[in-house]
Amino acid sequence: MNRHCPPCQTAALAAKDPLGRPVMRASCLECVEKHAGAAYVLFAESWHEKHKFHRLRAIGHLHEAEDESQAWPELRELLRDSRIRFQADGQPPDWAAIEEMIAIIRPPDQRLRP
Ligand SMILES: [Zn+2]
Repeated sequence: MNRHCPPCQTAALAAKDPLGRPVMRASCLECVEKHAGAAYVLFAESWHEKHKFHRLRAIGHLHEAEDESQAWPELRELLRDSRIRFQADGQPPDWAAIEEMIAIIRPPDQRLRP
């Protein structure tokens, strides 16, 4: 069963970090953005009483984003620190910083068009 999105399949061919070390999981900026976005939605909706906050789901999505960002150590560190801070004391991630770093990493020819 193929569970990879198309960018993941491409990324799997170059599954090494910037130092040339093999990574445990192919990095994919689209999936990083997807998981960071899912975690953001969980935080954003949690104020509403009908949306019970799912702490484990938020942690899981942040971890998935971290895991799929191994090719970009700065982004991975930001996501990892965000997850650890949230787990430790409930501090929400700096979503703007995450979004900005993804935008910086994404090659100009792969930027999403409006
Ligand atoms: Zn992907």
